Amino acid sequence: TRIGVVAETAPGERRVALVPTHVQQLVDRGLRVVCEPGAGAGAWYEDEEYERAGAELGDPWGADIVLTVSPPSPAEVDRLASGAVLVGFLAPATNTEGIAALRKAGVRAFAVEAVPRVSRAQSMDALSSQATVTGYRAALLAAERLPRFFPMLTTAAGTVPPASVLVLGAGVAGLQALATAKRLGARTTGYDVRPEVSDQVRSVGARWLDLEISAVGSGGYARELTPKERARQQERLAEAVADFDAVITTASVPGGRAPTLITAESVRAMRPGSVIVDLAGETGGNCELSVPGEEVVVHDVTICSPLNLPSECAVHASELYSRNLVELLGLMLDDEGRLLPTTSDEILASTCVTATDEEVD
Ligand code: NAD
Repeated sequence: TRIGVVAETAPGERRVALVPTHVQQLVDRGLRVVCEPGAGAGAWYEDEEYERAGAELGDPWGADIVLTVSPPSPAEVDRLASGAVLVGFLAPATNTEGIAALRKAGVRAFAVEAVPRVSRAQSMDALSSQATVTGYRAALLAAERLPRFFPMLTTAAGTVPPASVLVLGAGVAGLQALATAKRLGARTTGYDVRPEVSDQVRSVGARWLDLEISAVGSGGYARELTPKERARQQERLAEAVADFDAVITTASVPGGRAPTLITAESVRAMRPGSVIVDLAGETGGNCELSVPGEEVVVHDVTICSPLNLPSECAVHASELYSRNLVELLGLMLDDEGRLLPTTSDEILASTCVTATDEEVD
């Protein structure tokens, strides 16, 4: 079985789907790995490292299993062989046309977004591994943009109080942002509509902000708020955010538009020089004034809405993602390295986004 590692072409994408250490592990198991020249360059892995690990340099798109980070372009889909397997972030909730094109091309496509959030699949959970990177970088970005110190400092020239940081949405990214801001010395507070995460927020040294709105959905995710709950949340958050130097937002609901947590009015109420880092830019943003992909200053508040923070930490983001894919490949291949059917494991069955109903049943 041949595994292809592509050079990503999406704008700003610096990650690579498989790092040299993991190439070596696959080659040791008798698999062949074909790496597109320059595939690892954005993440500082050189072609020679891939070759030393046992990969061949060449065209990865004709391989039996093609590994990517971003969804393939239509031209790239054309290069996939019928019957090939594709694994990557494929945005199944929004990229309906792309998934239809893959199905039409006869490709067995596995979207890492669809890996179930269950204990057995934890090591394959790319949403979590990349959200960890995003949360970490978001805290650093907030610290860098804030015209104040994060830690408390006692100096000969006076004492500086610690910055106060609020994180809205305490999922994987939010908890990592809280933990990182805390390590930098800030006073941290976390908020979510899933009350069960309050203990996790406290476990990373943050206070829990209770707005008395609970919206637990299915599969451990939040559900969308009703218009009435939303209005109440926005009103209570407007009061709360004015007390913080930096607010990091991460709220999202599966498949839907990101909820608006910070209205334009709330931004106006914040102190001049405050910072908002909005991580929900890809699905429209949590702040009414965010411009996805940009950094703007409105009402004297700096609002950053970065779109691909993992690419700014491409070495470790790639390494973690690559580990997720190796674990997923472990389910796909038998001991001789032959591809197993999608139905052989329920994690595979739920991750496959091009299977027909008969194939899954
Ligand atoms: P996510 O990216 O989907 O959402 C981020 C956070 O925003 C969530 O905590 C969500 O509750 C919150 N949110 C949504 N709407 C909100 C609103 N209106 N106001 C405030 N907050 C709002 O979340 P995620 O990080 O992908 O995690 C989703 C779930 O999956 C969590 O329960 C997490 O613990 C769970 N999980 C389980 C595993 C596992 O067991 N393998 C692994 C990772 C995550």
